[in-house]
Amino acid sequence: MSKPTAGIFGLTGCAGDQLVILNCEDQLLDLVALIDIRDFLMAGSANDTGCDLDIAFVEGAVMSKRDEQALRRVRARARTLVAIGTCAVWGGVAATDESAPRDAWLEEVYGPTGADYDSLPARALHEVVQVDYQITGCPIEKDEFVSAVANLLNGDAPLLPQYAVCVECKFRECGCLLTERGEVCCGPMTVAGCNARCPALRIPCVGCRGPAADANFASATAMFTEGGVSPQDVARKLRTFAPQGVQQ
Ligand code: SF4
Ligand code: SF4
Ligand code: SF4
Repeated sequence: MSKPTAGIFGLTGCAGDQLVILNCEDQLLDLVALIDIRDFLMAGSANDTGCDLDIAFVEGAVMSKRDEQALRRVRARARTLVAIGTCAVWGGVAATDESAPRDAWLEEVYGPTGADYDSLPARALHEVVQVDYQITGCPIEKDEFVSAVANLLNGDAPLLPQYAVCVECKFRECGCLLTERGEVCCGPMTVAGCNARCPALRIPCVGCRGPAADANFASATAMFTEGGVSPQDVARKLRTFAPQGVQQ
């Protein structure tokens, strides 16, 4: 039986999620034994750029007409399209301030011809095409990627956490930066999966994975207020990575 075909693509982003995939040293041989990676420009130059794909993984936000065309081409080729990374899932850092004076910035960076530059406000993939699954993270976690591939190969939806970073923080028995120190920690509203990496290092969570579906925003807001932290400050932090997921 032939192996399922896959492609891994990058739009506008830092390529960090593709790098995480390449850095799955312990699992890469198993992965290529199970899936036929046909199109992965970051990993090699000999790619089949037109074949049908069972699974396409796409990193980065849509920030140009070229990105949009590339994404539509991938969508047309792929049976299952998976957005990988916060930029692809939420728009990411580049989507932080959609009201920014874009033309002025383009001129500042590219000079008088900046206005002609192919640049659009950042959009998440689901704003442009149908997305089947989303693996968030800035960058994605190796374990989540590998287990998502295993799920997809079994015909299942990837099993990803819906709960907040605080849950993992408590599992690790870390002291709470918010209640003990009054620091602006976005853990109560941010989706878990990073094993509370930052709070475990005594650094407040800045919400790089985007909002948690199961987060109790009303309760978290009350907790922030009680701890002397303005909910607006928290919202501002959360908007850095996932502006769409946070109310002003
Ligand atoms: S989500 Fe983070 S790691 Fe991935 S492309 Fe965007 S900035 Fe880079
Ligand atoms: S608010 Fe931050 S430090 Fe406190 S439990 Fe949640 S993630 Fe941990
Ligand atoms: S703790 Fe927060 S900022 Fe740190 S990796 Fe996890 S989601 Fe991102």
